[in-house]
Amino acid sequence: MSKIFVSNWKMQLNYSASLKLANDFKKKFKNFSGLAVLCPDFLSLAAVAQIIKTTPLKLGAQDCSLRDQGAYTGEVSARNLKALGANYVIIGHSERRQYFFETEAIINQKLRDAQVDKLIPILCVGESLAERKVGLTKAVLKNQLRLALKNIKPGLIIAYEPIWAIGSGRVAKSEEVELIHAFIKQEARQILKKAVKVIYGGSVTAADFASFKKTKNIDGFLVGGASLKATEFHKICQL
Ligand code: PEP
Repeated sequence: MSKIFVSNWKMQLNYSASLKLANDFKKKFKNFSGLAVLCPDFLSLAAVAQIIKTTPLKLGAQDCSLRDQGAYTGEVSARNLKALGANYVIIGHSERRQYFFETEAIINQKLRDAQVDKLIPILCVGESLAERKVGLTKAVLKNQLRLALKNIKPGLIIAYEPIWAIGSGRVAKSEEVELIHAFIKQEARQILKKAVKVIYGGSVTAADFASFKKTKNIDGFLVGGASLKATEFHKICQL
């Protein structure tokens, strides 16, 4: 089964750097046969869509509004993202939960909206270090899944992103990720009545290749920092 690789550029690049990176990806991925999704910021999304349109690369957004259209200053709708050429959208990233106060109810509404507009959501879940230390990982994940997936249709991707691993250089051990992914798959299946793909995110680099090679329950990777170089992300996509 081919894996899913998602490149999250966050707010790390200015407009011209985003376009340069998209052109680097275009060259590097011209013969790629897997599924790789680029998620630039809203500002560069339209231009990146043009640059990668003749390549096997797919386009995703880092977030979307919970509203579809109307007087919502500063928002970007899933409908407009879809019209621009995006097929995927990251929802509920821990940075949005932490810095922009996104609750499970907001995340649930965004998931619904993305599905109405035929975007494939990539729902991020994960525990904090404090929660992990007191053995709450599974309880936290169960709660996040139960609330976020309420009345959501199958056809989304879940990203397990332990908060302590994001941008910290601390990659979770592959054996541990395997077990957590098995748990997430089981919980999500109970709610959605269908199997779901679960990808891992948290400081992944090409150096993790060996440890993640033989895993069964890891359907791909969501990559931040290491995906800001086309060569590095291309190496990760060989996993
Ligand atoms: C992320 O942005 O979801 C992420 C996993 O970032 P990083 O790879 O930099 O930890």
